[in-house]
Amino acid sequence: MNATSDQTFDVVVIGAGAVGENAADRAGRTGLSVAIVEEALVGGECSYWACMPSKALLRPGAVLAAARGVPGVAEMVAGTLEPEPVLARRDSFTSHWHDDSQVSWLESAGITLVRGRARFTGPRTMSVTTDPDGACTTLTARHAVILATGSTPVIPSVPGLDASEVWTSREATSVAAVPPSLAIIGGGVVAVEMATAFTDLGSRVTVVARGDRLLTGAEPFAGEAVAASLTDLGVDVRLGTEVTRASDDAPPASDGSANTTRLHLSDGSTLDVARVLVATGRRPATTGVGLDHVGLDPRVPLAVDDAMEVLVEPGGAGTGWLFAVGDVAGRVATTHQGKYEGRVAGDVVAARFGPTPAEGPGPVGTDARAREQAAGPWSRFRATADHGAVPQVVFTRPEVSSVGLTAQQARDAGLDVRTVRYDMASVAGASLLSDDYAGTAQLVVTTDTRLVVGATFVGPEAAELLHAATIAVVGEVPLERLWHAVPAYPTVSEVWLRLLEEAGL
Ligand SMILES: Cc1cc2nc3c(=O)[nH]c(=O)nc-3n(C[C@H](O)[C@H](O)[C@H](O)COP(=O)(O)OP(=O)(O)OC[C@H]3O[C@@H](n4cnc5c(N)ncnc54)[C@H](O)[C@@H]3O)c2cc1C
Repeated sequence: MNATSDQTFDVVVIGAGAVGENAADRAGRTGLSVAIVEEALVGGECSYWACMPSKALLRPGAVLAAARGVPGVAEMVAGTLEPEPVLARRDSFTSHWHDDSQVSWLESAGITLVRGRARFTGPRTMSVTTDPDGACTTLTARHAVILATGSTPVIPSVPGLDASEVWTSREATSVAAVPPSLAIIGGGVVAVEMATAFTDLGSRVTVVARGDRLLTGAEPFAGEAVAASLTDLGVDVRLGTEVTRASDDAPPASDGSANTTRLHLSDGSTLDVARVLVATGRRPATTGVGLDHVGLDPRVPLAVDDAMEVLVEPGGAGTGWLFAVGDVAGRVATTHQGKYEGRVAGDVVAARFGPTPAEGPGPVGTDARAREQAAGPWSRFRATADHGAVPQVVFTRPEVSSVGLTAQQARDAGLDVRTVRYDMASVAGASLLSDDYAGTAQLVVTTDTRLVVGATFVGPEAAELLHAATIAVVGEVPLERLWHAVPAYPTVSEVWLRLLEEAGL
């Protein structure tokens, strides 16, 4: 149902992205009444402008590359991708930017949707602007508010770069006509994935990154492999380079197509392109939510504890009523980890504020409140994995999948670690997958306790190798026990056996 007047609920969630939806679902499971406020589409960035459309754009190129690695099939796929059906399939994955099915799901879960932009007017109370004329309704939460407002792209202040003209990931993932040329500013996940997708679709792509390698948050060998493969695909990768100025005096390209922008680069060169995609990171969406009305500074990153409760100041006391999850919490910016945080916060709210056994039954469990109060790390009321067990996949070719700490991060954290590495092409299952399979696997292992604290796989379909590594990291499984997890023959997972042998088993 849609709320129509000033109302009070037990819990209000602000932001109906994937993360807010999960938090709302869990918070309502003890019978608490839950409202969720959304100013745009229910489902948020991931469903319409991020994970789903970007992966829909990337999948056809991956399938084509896989087919080309297998004689007998390779001969049948000599051409390039057809952009039109690729974009049409992408459109179906975004439900043509309609959120009806997600709204139906909210209804089936008993969550009240309030359409509009929420802004705190005081603790537990907010005004919601419900229509463009500024009509407002007031929502009050009896117990808790869960903030799940996501993040917004960072646009660098480059002279001449008109923020209204450049593409962000939104325009790139919802593209209707593939531009003949595209400059991508940035060297992170969005930059390399979009460089791959647009090259597949037929754009001439240039990546301009100021770092000395791509994917600086990953193991160096991962960024190096992606840079090499992008170059092989025909992408012009310019590392250690910054855009210093932009102008609109670009002449047409040699094929006669129009260019909109001339980028002036720090190495003195210029780049004329039809489109510019800025992929220089995102910041938590904490402004414009009225945090200043609840004693918090919107310019300062939120501090949250492992229950995802917002703290009055870092290391300080909890607010007692405000929680933050997903991108806005500033801990990890992926959908899966945000949803994990949403499940944790929802369960904490349900346990802390839901009915006790004396007050009524609750599916969280009869002693949920006591269990939550006594909860320690790795209980389902604490988002412990955020600290060193976060999985991530980059859907480039090769794919990069990783979990936990890089070797450098482990050493910076004071751990005594060593790395073991294996060439995945030497695994029987990998060579069956593709004649030209190339890839590398690496574990980061503590020298004293012999635990896996980090893993990185670079190669075709490396994404599917990741969850085994995540279980090893989260479960703190010693190498000696992992030895008994026998990988099936002939799969790429046999790389685990080889890695353990490299580790001395
Ligand atoms: C191009 C791209 C590709 C990505 N690919 C992946 C991927 O493959 N896998 C992955 O795990 N992650 C991926 N991510 C990251 C992922 O999209 C985000 O981590 C995820 O969307 C965060 O979810 P969220 O619910 O916290 O925020 P969002 O999805 O941004 O949802 C926040 C919602 O809050 C609403 N909102 C904001 N302020 C208010 C307000 N004041 N009142 C009412 N409503 C409000 C917004 O309209 C929005 O719907 C990708 C990101 C990008 C940019």
